[in-house]
Amino acid sequence: MEGSFAELQNRVVQRGLCTACGTCAGVCPEGAIGWVYEDDEPLPELTGDCAGCGICSAVCPGEEVNMPALEQFVFGRTREENIPDLGLYRDARAGWAVDRAIRQHGAGGGLVTALLVYALERGFIDCALVAGFRRDQPWRTEAKLAVNRQQLLAAAQSKYACVPVNTLLSRAFAEGYRRVAVVGLPCHIHGLRKMQFCGQPASLARGVVLTVGLFCASQFYFEGTRHLLVERLGVDNLELIVSLSYRGGHWPGHLVVELKDGRRLLLDRHEYMYHHLMPAFKRDRCEMCVDWAAELADLSVGDFWDPQVRAGQALGASSCLVRSPAGEELLDGAVKNGYVETIPLEAARLAAGIGYELKKHAAAFRLRQRRRFGWPVPEYHRVIHYIPFARELHLAPETQQKTQE
Ligand SMILES: Cc1cc2nc3c(=O)[nH]c(=O)nc-3n(C[C@H](O)[C@H](O)[C@H](O)COP(=O)(O)OP(=O)(O)OC[C@H]3O[C@@H](n4cnc5c(N)ncnc54)[C@H](O)[C@@H]3O)c2cc1C
Repeated sequence: MEGSFAELQNRVVQRGLCTACGTCAGVCPEGAIGWVYEDDEPLPELTGDCAGCGICSAVCPGEEVNMPALEQFVFGRTREENIPDLGLYRDARAGWAVDRAIRQHGAGGGLVTALLVYALERGFIDCALVAGFRRDQPWRTEAKLAVNRQQLLAAAQSKYACVPVNTLLSRAFAEGYRRVAVVGLPCHIHGLRKMQFCGQPASLARGVVLTVGLFCASQFYFEGTRHLLVERLGVDNLELIVSLSYRGGHWPGHLVVELKDGRRLLLDRHEYMYHHLMPAFKRDRCEMCVDWAAELADLSVGDFWDPQVRAGQALGASSCLVRSPAGEELLDGAVKNGYVETIPLEAARLAAGIGYELKKHAAAFRLRQRRRFGWPVPEYHRVIHYIPFARELHLAPETQQKTQE
């Protein structure tokens, strides 16, 4: 049936195009969409009666995200097509939480958590949808609804396994929250903006008042984490784990696992990310995504890699692209009221990282290859020229010197 969940399943889920953002389940007026885990990866499934309203299909970012139309809708303007860039933004800052506990607990500078705490304590939002870990299986991620500072702090740091955050949209509204913030990867934000674009369900479309996007090179299969735990850390019984963090310990944070017998195991971030998860366990759908900097969010936040600062010797900081007036107002207010500190950031530096290369060049090229062979691909309505460009300008000073010699 057209517009039914069955159709979405055929067009998107069964063709490997689902991002597992959770929007379909979060908007279903019948509450009829749940989750099944295949190979430990979440897939939406029908758990009740489908009324065939078509809202799940309309909001799904799996098969189609009309970036130019959504950009026009969100920001009132669009940019020149075909140029790989960081999306529309009004300002670029590096920043961190003033509260030391939040800064230390964040993935970077705890900027996202500090902004949410500010928004919550000043009444701009009444809850935030974020990503945490399951209580019964603390090595598995899950979406969380946070309504206070403690819950936000508990959900800080990056989770490198899928979290269908948007699935909690209808629960938030059912529990009476009317001004909701959502933190998500580019695909979560795509789903939210599609929901707002089509204006359905109306209450949810109006009620999401703040979107904080994370820069995203890729999400990873949980199988990658399992391999790290068993092969690299020797934890072959996951039931022994009492806590897991992907960015635990000193900045920039490492894979830290605490076991029931009191042992604390640590695996270096660079090692597990660039020599394991990134080359081996990227989710296939992410290989086809061309949005790195969460281009449709109110505020987009990523790591801030200061070439002068060595790992373990400093507190972290976050990079932030301020995109919408709402995002700007929030960040300015948080600075004025002493929740966060910021400094100017040369945005072009962000394009020197591997994440940008993966999404704006490699994925754009990959889409072309897949189309050539008729493989299922998402349509972003933007043809991106992945022309190589020189990046010397953005190298660390000592590297520049070597290049000149
Ligand atoms: C899968 C993934 C890939 C990333 N790739 C890049 C990259 O290529 N380059 C880059 O600069 N930065 C990347 N980031 C962002 C970076 O790791 C930090 O999340 C970001 O800098 C914010 O740091 P913070 O200290 O300000 O946030 P924190 O204060 O630590 O707060 C982070 C917030 O994000 C939420 N969150 C964490 N993981 C997820 C998730 N999987 N889905 C939805 N919400 C989540 C948390 O619940 C929390 O609310 C990525 C993050 C993730 C999760």
